[in-house]
Amino acid sequence: MSYDKNNIFAKILRGEIPCKKVYENEYVMSFHDIKPQKKIHVLVIPRGEYVDLDDFTTKASDKEIVEFHKAITHIVKILKISNQEGGYRVLSNTGKDGGQEVSHLHYHIFGGEQIGKMVV
Ligand code: 5GP
Repeated sequence: MSYDKNNIFAKILRGEIPCKKVYENEYVMSFHDIKPQKKIHVLVIPRGEYVDLDDFTTKASDKEIVEFHKAITHIVKILKISNQEGGYRVLSNTGKDGGQEVSHLHYHIFGGEQIGKMVV
């Protein structure tokens, strides 16, 4: 699947759509999900144009991949949900069967309460 520059997260990255920002650096942006499914529900996206996890791990540089994952550890500390502070769940929906709605790679970070069953 080719990258659609008009997907909603591309617009957020370009500042065309507002978001409730949690963190950003040269490699990532993180913001609250517009329809939170848990007490804390935050998204983290790479700045690069990657459709999904497969696209990312295939095309992104090692630096981008490392920085993306390191950012998660930083973000959960900002949110005060690191393992020492309660814990959290990271999830990435991929493709049709995975339930992916927005075609720009994103990880969901859930926390602030018991997240419950892994899959319903
Ligand atoms: P997916 O189903 O693709 O894994 O998740 C997409 C997520 O993006 C959903 O949880 C949805 O609520 C969130 N979302 C969709 N549009 C917007 C938006 O305009 N702003 C924010 N902050 N989140 C959005």
